[in-house]
Amino acid sequence: MAARILNGIPIREEIHKELREEIASLKSRDITPGLATVLTGDNPASKVYVASKIAACESLGIKSFNYTPPDSITEPQLLDLIEELNERDEVDGILVQLPLPKQIDAKKVLEAVSPAKDVDGFHPVNMGHLVEGRPRLVACTPLGVMEILRRSNIPIQGANAVVIGRSDIVGKPMALLLMHADATVTICHSKTKDLPGVSRRADIVVAAMGRPACITSDYIRPGATVIDVGTNRITDPKEAERIFANTPERLAKFREKGSGLVGDVHPDVANVAGAITPSPGGVGPLTIAMLMSNTTKAANLRRGGRWNCGTPQVMLQQRLERK
Ligand code: NAP
Repeated sequence: MAARILNGIPIREEIHKELREEIASLKSRDITPGLATVLTGDNPASKVYVASKIAACESLGIKSFNYTPPDSITEPQLLDLIEELNERDEVDGILVQLPLPKQIDAKKVLEAVSPAKDVDGFHPVNMGHLVEGRPRLVACTPLGVMEILRRSNIPIQGANAVVIGRSDIVGKPMALLLMHADATVTICHSKTKDLPGVSRRADIVVAAMGRPACITSDYIRPGATVIDVGTNRITDPKEAERIFANTPERLAKFREKGSGLVGDVHPDVANVAGAITPSPGGVGPLTIAMLMSNTTKAANLRRGGRWNCGTPQVMLQQRLERK
């Protein structure tokens, strides 16, 4: 039977609606959330991502402050800019778009962002809060996955969850969020033995590997929920034929454009899974929504407020604070 498709776009719209209410309530207290974006150099993909983030700010009534230093910026200059943004009161969130130019140590720059304004949730202080089970600002993509699971009524408590990928920005925070939501979590990576066998034991599989269509039907227990975080651009026609053999409309689209986007999960998995996120159109739309959510949350927390919007992100935090 074909899986239930967990489409990210209506979930994003629901979150935007809640955020608009939260932002209106902040504005009634003379607070307008503000996001500073720092885009270095001319990377075309980075420009598209930052433009989407600025557009989301505009649509929700969040102020954006956009910095576009040249590729030649030095590390001390970039650190000075971060320091200036840390000091500026109307800036609640700082987003440093990656990748950074090669002369710059990205870790050093990300650690220079004040934890209170770290809306990407990458700072070790925020990671530490998450490990403790008292999350403040959490990485946007894993947060978005949690929103998809909860708003789609996928049971998490007691579920066996397998997270494939252990990066700092997706895999690790994802595993921690699922664990704090009472799933039993297994973290897999490139050295995991018998990945299909481990993955087949899962009720929930989160694939975040950056390997096009690597997770095929034999990795999935029939009826399991599959979350595809991967976003991979493919250009090889042979690879496209292999991946889209049973989805002719996607193959035709690939041939028309000469390239295509595909997740880490093979499209045929939709015939085995109980529920599955599409890629594109599943997790992706949630990532920017959660950046907006984090910026709004930071604006509130920085002024001593509690995050009182009733989203699952908040409910998770409140539940953990009560423990
Ligand atoms: P990453 O830093 O490259 O990490 C990839 C992880 O996958 C690593 O832990 C690696 O294991 C593991 N891995 C790689 N090949 C594997 C294999 N064959 N079997 C098992 N594990 C394997 O990637 P990332 O930044 O986490 O991103 C992962 C994917 O998510 C990418 O496709 C990226 O584009 C996508 N992404 C999407 C969004 C969104 O908004 N939709 C946001 C962020 C990322 P090792 O640790 O052993 O090397």
